[in-house]
Amino acid sequence: MQSRKIEDENIMNQGGNLADIAQALMRQQKKNDILLNKSMLPSKGLLYKGDISVKKLTTIDIKNLSTVTTDTVDGVMNGILARNVSGIQVNDILVGDKIWLIFYLRSITYDDYPFDIKYTCSECGHNGIFSMKFSDLVVNQLQDDFKYDYTMKNGDVITIGFPTIGNEVETNMVLREPEKYSMTPIDEELINIANYIKTLNGVNQSIMSAYRYIETLDAPSFSNFANYMADVNFGVKPYINIKCDCGNIIQAPLSFSAEYFMPKIK
Ligand SMILES: [Zn+2]
Repeated sequence: MQSRKIEDENIMNQGGNLADIAQALMRQQKKNDILLNKSMLPSKGLLYKGDISVKKLTTIDIKNLSTVTTDTVDGVMNGILARNVSGIQVNDILVGDKIWLIFYLRSITYDDYPFDIKYTCSECGHNGIFSMKFSDLVVNQLQDDFKYDYTMKNGDVITIGFPTIGNEVETNMVLREPEKYSMTPIDEELINIANYIKTLNGVNQSIMSAYRYIETLDAPSFSNFANYMADVNFGVKPYINIKCDCGNIIQAPLSFSAEYFMPKIK
């Protein structure tokens, strides 16, 4: 009751002009927005029109991120991107940019506060601590001159489309209740590959029609396409490279721990 009263008085003090207040609020929100340098993204922003801005994570975001489970991680991340990335709808964000954006939001929130990773070198046995910064992420970027038309080994021509969060949500729906979409079991790895097919010989493909195509492909065509996509795909690698003093490179898994999102800042 009390705080509501104070708010009302503040509004009155500003002259009670709602348009002025709305503008002041918008200016305040804009002040918290940080313009994103799109060329840093795994996709280099090549497939996004217009400017994209980001905001620092809030306490509730941090709490949600530090308590994720495998079941909730997609929903939590998508919610955080929806709230903290503007200039683009969350469903239009490319899956290859998603993890990078989450780590970037963490980085701007804590001024890139380093995250300590303990490691043991497999070559010299040295036990060390690596202070990971945002720039230590291993990122594969989309090629500027990427050719979206791809001729399969069997002669079919497909147009490659990199999946968005919207496509990912749709795919997860199919995987959750496959019996609604298919008489036969749906293979997760194959449907993920099917997600990269936008058109087949000039005809738009739904996720299920692309899946049927992948499922019935001859082995050489499938293997060729799967390997090609693995090479050209963009995103954050699930590991970071730690260089030991002896010269050995240790691959440590990329952390998604509670402490990463809620560091013990001294
Ligand atoms: Zn070593």
